[in-house]
Amino acid sequence: KDGQERDKDKADRATSEQVLDQRTRMILYQMINRGAVSEVHGAISTGKEANVYGAVAYPDIHGPPVQRAVKVYKTAILSFKDRERYITGEHRFKSGADKGNNRKMVKLWAEKEFRNLRRIHSAGIACPEPIQLKLHVLVMDFLGDRKGWAYPRLRDATIPADDAEQIWMHLYIQLLGIMRRMYQVCKLVHADLSEYNILYNDKQLYIIDVSQSVEHDHPRSLEFLRMDIKNTGDFFRRQGVDTLSDRTVFDFITISEGVVEEPGLAQAIERLYASRSAAADDDTATAEQEVDNEVFRNQYIPQTLDQVYDIEKDAEKIGEGKGSNLVYRNLLADQVVQPNEAEPRSSEDESDNGAALDSDDDGSSE
Ligand code: ADP
Ligand code: MG
Repeated sequence: KDGQERDKDKADRATSEQVLDQRTRMILYQMINRGAVSEVHGAISTGKEANVYGAVAYPDIHGPPVQRAVKVYKTAILSFKDRERYITGEHRFKSGADKGNNRKMVKLWAEKEFRNLRRIHSAGIACPEPIQLKLHVLVMDFLGDRKGWAYPRLRDATIPADDAEQIWMHLYIQLLGIMRRMYQVCKLVHADLSEYNILYNDKQLYIIDVSQSVEHDHPRSLEFLRMDIKNTGDFFRRQGVDTLSDRTVFDFITISEGVVEEPGLAQAIERLYASRSAAADDDTATAEQEVDNEVFRNQYIPQTLDQVYDIEKDAEKIGEGKGSNLVYRNLLADQVVQPNEAEPRSSEDESDNGAALDSDDDGSSE
């Protein structure tokens, strides 16, 4: 490499490491002028793709200060390249991501996080409230104590030993409710959910880091959901929680029957526990569940009815109450004609089927 190229490399690296580059500083000055923040403090977290800073604002001139968090996406990074899979196929980003332009990409991620947070927050799920967005800089509520200490990630949470078993179970159920609500009400799959992207305080979970979250009609949303279920389930199992099988959780989240509100939610989960197969003993039950999880994790998940191998055969099976091992049976549910409520069918029905199914492709469960 010649000298000039080396200098350019150095400059690129400088902007990726020292996040508060000229442009970012200008954005922060502007935000300060407009009152979204008045002081930006030290970094709470420095990550591969973004840094998060603590900040203070005075939304009411005569009122007390409030704490905020400022997430600054890094503009000179390569890791955004693997994130393409989250954006491709998202109808909100039809124009697609311009891989050649990092700044645009990063702005897109910040925008996505802002909108997703807004949606999750309005659905009443505990998460930081998004306050302001400008290019790659996002201002949100600070999740932490009054002294400015951010709440720990669930991974680092200290759970009182006396009550640990009960609290972990309570948190597990809480998280299942959050995932279901996020899917049913927000129409979103987190897609990077784990003990690293959940903050914890006082028996309450807070969902963060939602820039990669996808709409439930994203071509890979169910695959991402299955991964979220595995990652969170693995974590709770390590804490000694008797978890439900991945398949049961998947159905609980995706099948839109029943409640998404407390207290019915907790009761619905209790019913799931009650209806588990009554294996002879705990070890057998655990082994059975491990096998089922393994099968479920390797099962092909079609996202649209187009991708189902033999839709008529599968719909028929489900109609006969046999398709319980099909991952996508809720996708087919609308296609199933119950014997007793079957409408008289015209002879054209068969050739009509294709078109009728196509029009259903966008997951129109609403
Ligand atoms: P990354 O893309 O770097 O993983 P995250 O959104 O997960 O970004 O944030 C990184 C860390 O910053 C979190 O683990 C958490 O400790 C802290 N953090 C993020 N948002 C907030 C917030 N609103 N309040 C307090 N701390 C936060
Ligand atoms: Mg994170």
